[in-house]
Amino acid sequence: MTFSEIPGLSIEKENILFLIRQGRLPHALLIYGPEGGGKLALSLALCQYLQCEKPGPSDSCGLCSPCQKSRKLVHPDTHFSFPVSGTNVLSDQLLQEWRQAVIENPYLNISMWQEKSEQENKLSNISAAECRNMLKKLSLTIYEGKIRILLVWLPEYLGKEGNMLLKLIEEPPPDSLILLVAENRDFLLPTILSRCQSLGIPAFRDDDVQFMVQQSGIQDAGLARNIVRTAEGNMMEALRMVADQVHPHSEKLVRWLRLCYKGDAAEILSWVESFSVQGRDVHRQFLKFGLRFIGQVLSYKISPEEEDTFNEDEWKGIKGLAARLEIGEIQDLATLFDEHIYFVERNANPKILFTALSLNLRDVLNHREIKTIHLI
Ligand SMILES: [Zn+2]
Repeated sequence: MTFSEIPGLSIEKENILFLIRQGRLPHALLIYGPEGGGKLALSLALCQYLQCEKPGPSDSCGLCSPCQKSRKLVHPDTHFSFPVSGTNVLSDQLLQEWRQAVIENPYLNISMWQEKSEQENKLSNISAAECRNMLKKLSLTIYEGKIRILLVWLPEYLGKEGNMLLKLIEEPPPDSLILLVAENRDFLLPTILSRCQSLGIPAFRDDDVQFMVQQSGIQDAGLARNIVRTAEGNMMEALRMVADQVHPHSEKLVRWLRLCYKGDAAEILSWVESFSVQGRDVHRQFLKFGLRFIGQVLSYKISPEEEDTFNEDEWKGIKGLAARLEIGEIQDLATLFDEHIYFVERNANPKILFTALSLNLRDVLNHREIKTIHLI
């Protein structure tokens, strides 16, 4: 991956290149930032830059043999460690799957990784055996490059075993770089945190997401805008929506609202049954889209103007709800979506969550009082 393939983040790219030019790149660097941001992509671009035979002032050449290997994540001097499930399972055993998942979506989070590697609903960690393996990797001879790199993705999954790495982080062997790529800095062992220089990477701006969506060849301007708005700077989600090529969740949401309005319990339960098997990210994204949809119902109720970020079918649903519901009821719907996003983020059981929410929606859509159901 080259720096130029990552949209935006010009200040952060320049900061990294400045450290290299000044010869001040630390031996252990923590690169951290929010979910769906550019921390891993930037780290991979940095690895490629450091291994490149002919790096330019602002990017690797992208053509030399080390660049080709780095692009495929197979450079023999760049090692990877990441969370996996199961005792005595090492990252190396799932390296093939990890490479594929990262190449497909370098903005992925832990749940997307678990989904891709079929480790869903299992506890992931970076074990003591994995730490010993890291020590071994950094003691290896440098095969072809100039530097030996160890990239640890999501070091917050290191338990106390992480303390085995302290000496290594403090004094890595010569010509070595340890890159820790984290999502949540607060979950890192303080002993590790205090030994690393850190670099924060902010979420992508809407313009960056827009650029990526355009690059991906999406022609439908309404769909592109819808993806950008729903992603809210999360490139992982934007890429996933681009891959799906449909208005994110639109049909499903409208169908579900109709089912809830009708109130047929068997139909609702069968919808819940099939939707609840999808991952937590999809659930959260779906509810976020629903919240935006309801927001549009409210603004149409107050001032009936059409915006072009919704398609014809969605407008039918928006106008129907605006005509049917009072302002207070639309606000109740928005509160329900908002609360349930919170529950999803706290791992509430999806089947119970969507059943409860469907029943609540049924009540609001039929002008009845909501019965509160406590989920967590
Ligand atoms: Zn190169």
